[in-house]
Amino acid sequence: MIWETVIGLEIHAQLSTKSKLFSGGSTKFGAESNTHVDLVDMGLPGVLPVANKEAFYKAIKFGLATGAQINQISSFDRKNYFYPDLPKGYQITQMTKPIVEKGSIKVSTENGEKIINITRAHLEEDAGKSIHDLFEGETGVDLNRAGTPLLEIVSEPEISTAKEAVAYFKAIRQLVTFLDICDGNMAQGSMRCDVNVSIKKIDDKELGTRAELKNINSFKFIEKAINFEIERQIAVIESGESVVQETRLYDSDKNETRSMRSKEEANDYRYFPCPDLLPVVISDKELNEIKDNLPELPEEKQNRYISEIGLESSEAKIISSSKAMADMFEEASKKTDDAKMIAKWLVGDISALLNKENIEIDESKLSPENFGKLIKRISDNTISGKIAKSVLEEVWENGNDVDEIIKAKGLIQIQDESLLEQIAIQVLDSNPDQVAAYRSGKDKLLGFFVGQVMKETQGKANPKSVNVILKKILS
Ligand code: ADP
Ligand code: MG
Repeated sequence: MIWETVIGLEIHAQLSTKSKLFSGGSTKFGAESNTHVDLVDMGLPGVLPVANKEAFYKAIKFGLATGAQINQISSFDRKNYFYPDLPKGYQITQMTKPIVEKGSIKVSTENGEKIINITRAHLEEDAGKSIHDLFEGETGVDLNRAGTPLLEIVSEPEISTAKEAVAYFKAIRQLVTFLDICDGNMAQGSMRCDVNVSIKKIDDKELGTRAELKNINSFKFIEKAINFEIERQIAVIESGESVVQETRLYDSDKNETRSMRSKEEANDYRYFPCPDLLPVVISDKELNEIKDNLPELPEEKQNRYISEIGLESSEAKIISSSKAMADMFEEASKKTDDAKMIAKWLVGDISALLNKENIEIDESKLSPENFGKLIKRISDNTISGKIAKSVLEEVWENGNDVDEIIKAKGLIQIQDESLLEQIAIQVLDSNPDQVAAYRSGKDKLLGFFVGQVMKETQGKANPKSVNVILKKILS
């Protein structure tokens, strides 16, 4: 039996507003528990929510960038449930009239590009956090996060593999960070996702019963959880039983999903229009203003890097793959005349360092100013490319100023031709066999001689000049 997998994602992106969705409480991450809590966030009776315009503008940016319909009149509903981290007893969300509907995004998958449709993206408030590991035998509640604005981005059930789900999530993350509406920080929970998975026989028109995997916050776990779940569902069906619609928890330690609760239906939540908030109306003027101020998106950047700056398409793709990378490229390029060299270093040595440490470039100690300076010192012949690598290593370690490192370590390139000539002669004199071989036609040995001179000068010679000098002596 050939089974087909069907996946739909609900991604929660925390919008990077200063204050909360319905109060003036701060959204800053990492503060002491219960210090960023307004009366509204506490759910005290008698206080009224006021909608945050900035959250709407950010949601609209997302809608515009995904070619979606923007509902210029949208409204809020109450989703009722009890949980200690939700003091009001209901979450304010957009059920019937979300701000954004019917968008789509292009995703690069193993099998080429695929368009995934986005059903809707609506605004809602986050809940607080239950803290289970702070007090022995008791649970604490931290309301700092309560009321933080979330954009819930719901995909159509059109994703076909675990890898494709990850690619979709990455595309959404790339987009929201370029739009500057969410910081994309998965470790801090700024992006989280629920994954809906079902399987069906290839020819079946109807979708199978889905399980919803809750709150998975890393690419690796999304992929693993889905693959586990597909196997589980196949085993259930092939043993003659049927998949039940339920919410499951992914346990990354055991790499398995476990049943948490049977799936609640919309009517369990007793949704009704929130009587405290009027429908929100976005004027044509506001909408146009947001449209006119949309930032350059990854694909546009990529094309501009190729056509205007002359980067290779592979380089342009890597550099425009993340906001942090593109920012670094553009800022550092301002400090030199050689954007192409900046690009080469970014996709070469710097990407290697980033991969090794598994960090993003804005988490490194390299500033755009210092990076620009490093490239400038290569192009103005102060240091060789080889020395530059060692300077980069030091900057990477401690963030020190490039010029200061060059000065302190005496790394300035040897410009004195006669000195280089002297060293070249020495090298040739001490390698008579290789010189004889070179003269009898083994041209490749020139590289060996250049290497020896570079070694003698501790990399401070310009390899191009050394080449010329050696050829002259050997001819
Ligand atoms: P909720 O989970 O809140 O009840 P929805 O019914 O809107 O909300 O579905 C949420 C997500 O589940 C969507 O991303 C949708 O694409 C996905 N989904 C719906 N049906 C299936 C299915 N049979 N298999 C896989 N995913 C599905
Ligand atoms: Mg759901």
